[in-house]
Amino acid sequence: MDNSWAKPVPVNEPLLAGNERKYLNECLDTGWISSEGPFIRQFEERFSGRIGRTNGIAVSNGSAALDVAVAALGLGKGDEVILPAFTIISCAAAVVRAGATPVLVDSDPDTWNMNAADVEKKITARTRAIMVVHIYGLPVDMAPIMEIANRRRLKVIEDAAEMHGQAYRGKPCGSFGELSIFSFYANKHITTGEGGMIVTDDQQLAERCRSLRNLCFIPEKRFVHEELGWNFRMTNMQAALGLAQLEQLDEFVQKKRRMGTLYTERLKDIRGIQLPKRATDYAENIYWVYGIVLHDEIPFDAGEAMKRLSARRIGSRPFFFPMHEQPVFRKMGLFQDETYPVAERLARRGFYIPSGLALTDEQMNQVADVVGEILR
Ligand SMILES: *Cc1c(COP(=O)(O)O)cnc(C)c1O
Repeated sequence: MDNSWAKPVPVNEPLLAGNERKYLNECLDTGWISSEGPFIRQFEERFSGRIGRTNGIAVSNGSAALDVAVAALGLGKGDEVILPAFTIISCAAAVVRAGATPVLVDSDPDTWNMNAADVEKKITARTRAIMVVHIYGLPVDMAPIMEIANRRRLKVIEDAAEMHGQAYRGKPCGSFGELSIFSFYANKHITTGEGGMIVTDDQQLAERCRSLRNLCFIPEKRFVHEELGWNFRMTNMQAALGLAQLEQLDEFVQKKRRMGTLYTERLKDIRGIQLPKRATDYAENIYWVYGIVLHDEIPFDAGEAMKRLSARRIGSRPFFFPMHEQPVFRKMGLFQDETYPVAERLARRGFYIPSGLALTDEQMNQVADVVGEILR
């Protein structure tokens, strides 16, 4: 069937149908448009409160949150940080920029997440921290990771950028370890356009994060600096959006789960593809994105599949490209001769289809039809 006439389906479109406009107008009406303004504190308190953390530090994006988290823990030269090969560059970049050494682990082929056994094998006398990254909708199996971290006295940074509203055995994602981070980029479960947050229960770490976010200004000696920070402040307008989005988080998670179920129902009989796991014994998928991995019996890779989708006006995105194959890190001499077969396979055979919250059932049905046709 030729449906090139059909309307394009974007890979992501956010849903902004709550109090976003009302709160944004308050910013404009009151003139509070910078990082001074009442919405920041409110958003920090409500967001961190929902996760059960005592402190929230809003920043300009999730990558910045990772930089601040690594710096706040004092990680640096000679320190090793274990993290997955299959993730966004921001994770390894934060470690490298701090002067510390990233040490990689592979992913589980079913959940696409790192696992504790691989982490334990990579621990050396120099290991100081584990950066846990939850991938695409299912959390990492946290209990064994936390057990290792406690036993080996390692810090844990939890990257929960894709996990708003998700829980591990009933405990919110973002409540594990010393510090957790979130992103509010436009394709995350709740968005501020660009934005991020660090959450922690440790008062001292929270104060360090607040200082690092704000150029390490010293309140009583303005413009005198003992340390270098960044301007990673969030604006009151972003926080206004975030607050309105947070009010809808339960609905959003419910909607994503419904979307995931619908896609799976429509795609489960197509031969030669792996679909996201609906659940593990510790969590139910929240489908941040709906990923598809091509089995070997499909005679082409994800690049070709995405090209065919694009020709039919269906948006898609490749999976993450593994850290050990990143040219920028190879040029630095990192990860030479290392191989992580699952991460490599996911990068070559994996892609995700339109997954945004504004997607309609009709659009999902259209996407599912086209996926079936291009793989036949
Ligand atoms: C989106 C994301 C980030 C980065 O967040 P930005 O706000 O885009 O900088 C970090 N980690 C993971 C796992 C992400 O998905």
